[in-house]
Amino acid sequence: MAILEILTKENPRLRVKANRVPRVDDTVRRLMDDMVETMLDAPGVGLAATQVGVSQRVMVMKVDNQLYTLANPEVIRSSGEQVGFEGCLSVPGYIGEVARAEKVTMRALNRNGKEVRIKGEGLLARAIQHEIDHLDGVLFIDKMGPIAKLASRGSLNAFEREYRQAQRRGEIPPDVDIEKALTDLEREGPDSPPVL
Ligand SMILES: [Zn+2]
Repeated sequence: MAILEILTKENPRLRVKANRVPRVDDTVRRLMDDMVETMLDAPGVGLAATQVGVSQRVMVMKVDNQLYTLANPEVIRSSGEQVGFEGCLSVPGYIGEVARAEKVTMRALNRNGKEVRIKGEGLLARAIQHEIDHLDGVLFIDKMGPIAKLASRGSLNAFEREYRQAQRRGEIPPDVDIEKALTDLEREGPDSPPVL
């Protein structure tokens, strides 16, 4: 097993849509094992192959002490909505509030190449959607609203400056009050959101 390098957000390889795995063989299983080691070391709750520069539809997760190693994951059913904070190993230091389906059913191949269906809700559903987004070249910051995106960038001064600039560029309506935006964001600020 080996700890792999995790690509970070400017890397164009994070934007590539990954290919389906034709067959779960020893090479794919080795990748899964290295990804698990990398995820646990980081530490994170989930990791997609795209994040370690491999353009194959492989993902791993550890949720509620259960380890998942999967290939060709697909959401076949989803329902409800959850809005909550998440982070990403490829976007270090950022957290953001993202709306996701509350429940999903996923079809995938397990490490033996057998088709499995996994039903998840809450954090498991959030992790499944976050990792499949990675395999499609999508980062969670793409799904955040403009105000939340600015607030995730760190210091209040930087937020205020960028907020004013965004307002000037017309990305945020001029009548949205900065105080209100901050209050809304702080209301549900998490201590330690899941890093996916
Ligand atoms: Zn991520």
